[in-house]
Amino acid sequence: MARYTDSSCRLCRREGQKLFLKGDRCYSTKCAIEKRNYAPGQHGQARKKISEYGTQLREKQKCKRFYGLQETQFRNLFEKAARKKGITGENLLIMLETRLDNVVFRLGFASSRKEARQLVTHNHFTVNGKKVNIPSATVKAGDVIKVKEKSASSPKFKEIKDMTISVPSWLTVDIEKLEGKVVMLPTRADIDTPVAEHLIVELYSK
Ligand code: SF4
Repeated sequence: MARYTDSSCRLCRREGQKLFLKGDRCYSTKCAIEKRNYAPGQHGQARKKISEYGTQLREKQKCKRFYGLQETQFRNLFEKAARKKGITGENLLIMLETRLDNVVFRLGFASSRKEARQLVTHNHFTVNGKKVNIPSATVKAGDVIKVKEKSASSPKFKEIKDMTISVPSWLTVDIEKLEGKVVMLPTRADIDTPVAEHLIVELYSK
């Protein structure tokens, strides 16, 4: 599958806001948005009038980049969300939030979604006691996500045990056991992603 290999900070600068793609660096003064909050490239600082289509497109790009998906994956997820009962935009966000890589990030086991994806792929987690190494796997209410015993002694996870972690209300975490639980599925109100999802629905409905 195609992967984005250019600078992550360029993506934030393009969207004009922090997408928190680089872990700790995003919270420091080294963040590129703190230093150069304008679009990358030669004409990045030029003032541009943005069309309705442009606004919708930017919102979609922002959401896609926030969760680290490629266009095809994102589009497929949107199609699934549209087939479900309920409000398509909200379904989409809930489906993005309940991806295993996002849950690992939300539980504080990784400093960014990118790192979470890598840790999942490298077999560091179990879901309900079974090995799962697919970042796009979806979690359900009641699922228990745990760092594998073999991985728990690695410096990465030992370090986490000393941290104070706050998780969204639909998750709980036992940091000593390196274990998290999906208490319930999130609703739109539980998701703090700064995205106007109706613009994505409008874009894809054209
Ligand atoms: Fe975005 Fe993080 Fe880079 Fe800041 S440091 S521009 S938030 S990826």
